[in-house]
Amino acid sequence: MIVVLHPNVEKTGRAYRVLLEYLERLSGISVRVHDESGATEVITELYLIGDTSKLSSDPIAAFEVVSRVIRVHKEYRILGRHGANDRSLQFTYNGVSFSQDSLHVFAGLCAVDTREHVEQTFRVLREHGQKCARAGAYKPRTSPYSFQGHGVECLPYVFEAAGRNDIRVLAIEVTHDTHIEEITQALEEAGNPTGVMLQIGTRNTQNFELLKAAGKQHRFPILFKRGFGITLEESLNAAEYLASEGNPQVIFCLRGMKSNFADPHRNLVDFAHVSTVKRLTRMPVGIDPSHSVGTRSVAPDGIPELFHATAQGVIAGASLVLVDFHPDAAKALVDGPQALPMEDLRWFLDDVQQAREAYLERRKLVPGAPH
Ligand code: PEP
Ligand code: MN
Repeated sequence: MIVVLHPNVEKTGRAYRVLLEYLERLSGISVRVHDESGATEVITELYLIGDTSKLSSDPIAAFEVVSRVIRVHKEYRILGRHGANDRSLQFTYNGVSFSQDSLHVFAGLCAVDTREHVEQTFRVLREHGQKCARAGAYKPRTSPYSFQGHGVECLPYVFEAAGRNDIRVLAIEVTHDTHIEEITQALEEAGNPTGVMLQIGTRNTQNFELLKAAGKQHRFPILFKRGFGITLEESLNAAEYLASEGNPQVIFCLRGMKSNFADPHRNLVDFAHVSTVKRLTRMPVGIDPSHSVGTRSVAPDGIPELFHATAQGVIAGASLVLVDFHPDAAKALVDGPQALPMEDLRWFLDDVQQAREAYLERRKLVPGAPH
C-alpha cells in the first residue's frame, strides 16, 4: 500500500507525526518514507511494507496530510506504475537530474586499465561537456583467468581524475556488498570530488543479497541491468528489491538478451522494451548498446551498428546511454572489440542528439499533445 501525502508536508508538523505514529502502530507493517523532489514541490510517499491485504485504506485516507491511498496488487509495488500513482520517479544526484524525461550519456571505459587511459578518457569527455562517465573497477568475467579489474586500487586515481575533469557521476559496477563500502571510503578519502552510480550487472540481477545491500544505502543511485536470461517480469521484481529496501533511485538498463538468435551480435538487442518498461514502471530506462551489439562493425551507410542500436533506443525515449569508449581499444583489457574510439565521441553525441530531437518531435504528434 502506498500513502501519498499532500505536497510539501512538514515532517516536523503535528499532522505528519500523528499519521506516522498511527501507521507505525499497525502490527506486521513497517513504514518506509520516500520524498519525490520535483521542481516546485516535494511529495512524500509512505510505503507500507508487509501484509496489507486486511488493512482498510479508509482510516488512513482520513488523515489530514493524506492525499490518497493506493492499494498495489502488482509485485513491483514501489517502482511500478499503478493507476493513480504514475508519476515518473525522479531524483537529482550530485547536480545531475534523472527521470523518464531526461537523457544522459555515460561514455567511458568498460574496465579501468591504466591511469593514462582514465585521464585521456575523462579529458575528452570534459572537452565535450559530459558530466557522466563509466569506469569499471570490479569486473565479473566469464573466465577466472581473465583480468578481473583493478578493484579498490584504482579508485583513488579514478575519482581524482573524474573530479578534475568535472565528471559528476561515474557508473561503477559492484559485485559484492564490500565494494559499496570500498567506494564510500575511497570517495571520502579523496574528498568527494565526484559521485558514483552503483551498477548492478546482468550476472547479478538476481543476486538478492547484493540487491538488499545496494537498496539499504541511500547515498548512491543504482544503475540496474536487466537479467540476460530471465523474463522481464523477473528483472522488474529484482529491481524492486532495491526500492523495497529503501532506495527507489533506480535506473533500469536494457543491455540485450543472451540468445543465439542474436548472432552475429553479442546479445539480442531489446530496446523495443524501452517504452514497455516506462509503461510498466516509473523508472528511467537506460540502454547499453555496447554490450548488446558487441562490435564496432559499420553498416553500408557508413554508420556503426552500435550507433544505429543507440538511436533506436533514444528515439523510443531512453533516459540513459551507457557506452564503451576507449582511447586505445587495441590495448583494452576488457571488451576492446566493442569500444568506440574517442575521436568518434563528437559524432556519437551528435547522433544521439538527433535521435533525441526526433523522439521529442514524435511526442508532439500525439493527438492532444501540447506544441
Ligand atoms: C558492463 O557494463 O561492464 C557489464 C559487464 O555489463 P552487463 O552486466 O550488462 O554484462
Ligand atoms: Mn564490458
